[in-house]
Amino acid sequence: MNNLIKGKKNEWELILGLEVHAQINSKSKLFSPAPTEWGAEPNSQVSLVDSGMPGALPVINTFCVDQAILTGLSLNAKINEVSVFDRKNYFYPDLPQGYQISQFEHPIVSNGFLIIETENGEKKIGITRLHLEQDAGKSIHDQDINNSFIDLNRSGCGLMEIVSEPDMRSSDEVAQYVKKLRSILRRVGSCDGNMEKGNLRVDVNVSVRLPGKNLGTRCEIKNVNSIKFIQQAIEFEAARQIDIIENGGSISQETRLFDPTKGETRSMRGKEESHDYRYFPDPDLPPLIITKQKIEDLKKILPELPDEMKKRFLQDYNLKNYDAEIIVNDQDVAIFFEELVKKRDPKLVVSWLTVELFSYLKKTETNLSESKISVSKLGDLLDIISDGTISNRVAKDIFEEYLKSEKNAREFISEKGLVQVSDTNELTIMINSVLQENPKMVDDYRNGKEKLLGFFVGQVMKISKGKANPQLVNKILREELKK
Ligand code: MN
Repeated sequence: MNNLIKGKKNEWELILGLEVHAQINSKSKLFSPAPTEWGAEPNSQVSLVDSGMPGALPVINTFCVDQAILTGLSLNAKINEVSVFDRKNYFYPDLPQGYQISQFEHPIVSNGFLIIETENGEKKIGITRLHLEQDAGKSIHDQDINNSFIDLNRSGCGLMEIVSEPDMRSSDEVAQYVKKLRSILRRVGSCDGNMEKGNLRVDVNVSVRLPGKNLGTRCEIKNVNSIKFIQQAIEFEAARQIDIIENGGSISQETRLFDPTKGETRSMRGKEESHDYRYFPDPDLPPLIITKQKIEDLKKILPELPDEMKKRFLQDYNLKNYDAEIIVNDQDVAIFFEELVKKRDPKLVVSWLTVELFSYLKKTETNLSESKISVSKLGDLLDIISDGTISNRVAKDIFEEYLKSEKNAREFISEKGLVQVSDTNELTIMINSVLQENPKMVDDYRNGKEKLLGFFVGQVMKISKGKANPQLVNKILREELKK
């Protein structure tokens, strides 16, 4: 399948690249000891460095450097033994230094990639670079009192800016990329990936071109804070650009904002070029030197990454590719799965996890850890399905109610009178009553319409209120029909 977008005149190729700002999971800031805790009283976590006081000197936080290296390694990238901090100069009220300390020509990490799953199979997305930089403060505009406020708590927090190659061709590929990147960051522990809190912020570069032709002019959509909005923003922006070009206009390079309530992007400012920022090496900071030994030491503590875990799951549990991908992309789910699957049938576990449990979480708008569902709570239920105490169908019917109850699975179903009927005599009586009520169908079955077996099973399940053991019903039915 191709991903071309139909305009009124032509089919267009969408070219997408991402710049992701990931806040480093560090207790203190990138160049100061001030704390980074979220939700603190405004301006309570600000050191002299973060507020741009003259004479205050930045000192690099080596924990943040380690996190950038670990992340670079997990993105299959090159860790540069020498990198340089530069000043990116611009004025904004929430940037008291008058510049952001960032990395320009010599980033700490370059040339990586990650693998996403697309409908056409695996696809490699290049990662141009990962560099370290400071975050700015926050401006709060209160329209009611026509005033603005500045909170510098975020000023100086450590960010990893992760820049991809323009390798993505659809909003779906972008969604897969963000999910994969987020799951890697969480696995490594370098960023919590929380988009709502702004700890993972995505800027999308969008342009369109006729297939095989030169790249078009791109627009950058800033700070979109959910995967759904990212997809909406891309689709709106692509349609907007195609419409302009097909009507004889041209795209001007600019920075745009996405308005989630209207579902559209609008111009924010003309795009500046990097030379506008007058980058130069920060005279307060020496080049950052990373030894080979340091890199080797960090390699040893890298956790099992989602792709490796997926490979292992495919092998050990014989999962489908799609199931394995969604399980490993959420670390909590992956750990939960591995606990649950010990001594249990992987097929049963996967289907309960990805169908029943996921739809329960979606319905209750919780994630696995918020839901407080334990491995033993779900495991107990799976065990009594496996040993034939209840049928899979009954288990599905009572699932939600069971999750909310304090009872264990066996207590719950015996109190509800839901224990599966596996008594051969009892089942034979039910089966014979069904066969007696449907003499015509019995004849048809005996004359070769074997598909009717399903109908008979259904009827038995119905009169047993779902409690009949379906395997046994099948077996006895076949025997009775042979008579
Ligand atoms: Mn940046």
